[in-house]
Amino acid sequence: MASQNHPPDQTTPGVTDRYARPLQDLRISLTDRCNFRCTYCMPRELFGSEHLFLPRRELLDFEEIERLARIAAGLGVTKLRLTGGEPLLRRDIDVLIARLAAIDGIDDICLTTNGSLLTEQRARELKAAGVNRVTLSLDAIDDDVFKAINDVGYPASKVLTAIDNAKAAGLTPVKVNCVIQRGVNEDQILPMAEYFRHSDVVLRFIEFMDVGTSNGWRMEEVVPAREIVETIRTRHAISRLPANVPGETANRWVYDDGAGEIGIIASVSQPFCGGCTRARLSAIGELYTCLFGVHGRDLRTPLRSGASDDELRALLSGIWAARDDRYSEQRGEETANRRGDADGKVEMSYIGG
Ligand code: SAM
Ligand code: SF4
Ligand code: SF4
Repeated sequence: MASQNHPPDQTTPGVTDRYARPLQDLRISLTDRCNFRCTYCMPRELFGSEHLFLPRRELLDFEEIERLARIAAGLGVTKLRLTGGEPLLRRDIDVLIARLAAIDGIDDICLTTNGSLLTEQRARELKAAGVNRVTLSLDAIDDDVFKAINDVGYPASKVLTAIDNAKAAGLTPVKVNCVIQRGVNEDQILPMAEYFRHSDVVLRFIEFMDVGTSNGWRMEEVVPAREIVETIRTRHAISRLPANVPGETANRWVYDDGAGEIGIIASVSQPFCGGCTRARLSAIGELYTCLFGVHGRDLRTPLRSGASDDELRALLSGIWAARDDRYSEQRGEETANRRGDADGKVEMSYIGG
């Protein structure tokens, strides 16, 4: 199978899937709720006041999340990413983080957030609880463009403050995710690049992906990585760097003049399924082995009906061992004839980005 990155590290103990990819990262969605309505993720027409979000009792509680994370760690997971929805909406998240940080084998805890709740104090509390790094999402530097994307009138300037708060708290290196959509914000590529030069923040441009079914994705709206690189090169010389770690999602680039690094996540134009070591746990305890999954495997029922750790471990490792997902590569192979089963794919806000 083609891969733009190094093959997975075969020396890691634990479970591997049908393409010999080890299970190393677990992305945990803490909630399906969000205080933004980004037009490409939770469009207002579908996530309006009548939308039924999950009731609290449906969500995995902290004990259940910790238990699954511990079992996953025993199977080779070393990295956890907390996401959503908006993860900082989950009450007492610090308590959960402290429990996750204490798990043997977990050496990296990251959080992806829209930054709206990341005050100076919150950033310090997250660091103290055990978060190593945060990724903030910011799709435009221009307030008007950003407000139109998040659709709740939230200004970019406030996310920039949250980024500073994260840096001050030592949640570093801070990364910034910027999803580029043609006709929406491709004019923000250069201003965003300009703002984050010499900042120690790693800006990552992300190709707009066909996750879920609610964002009306069309290939024409994808600005491919090549075009993003060309745009940056109209103003600055940049060179490609080798991957930091096997299975890294972003192509790494560096400014030749020493102004820092940028990443490009080319999931559509250069799929990286070959190095994909990620599983995703939805807020209600379904395990997805691919971002483009249609059905997750229910772990909450066995959790709540008395399954032992050994039984849960066998379940999890069986799911991973049977995994043969390579959706993005298949999409690339079949662009002329998009997969019929694409409808019904789970939403990004539901299983977490
Ligand atoms: N609410 C948090 C945030 O926005 O950072 C965490 C959850 S959000 C689903 C995680 C990331 O997924 C964000 O950076 C968002 O921009 C990205 N994302 C959502 N839909 C996407 C899509 N269709 N294509 C590419 N990235 C997407
Ligand atoms: Fe919320 Fe993040 Fe989705 Fe925007 S991208 S709607 S902030 S979950
Ligand atoms: Fe991993 Fe699925 Fe994305 Fe491929 S399409 S990189 S298998 S999540």
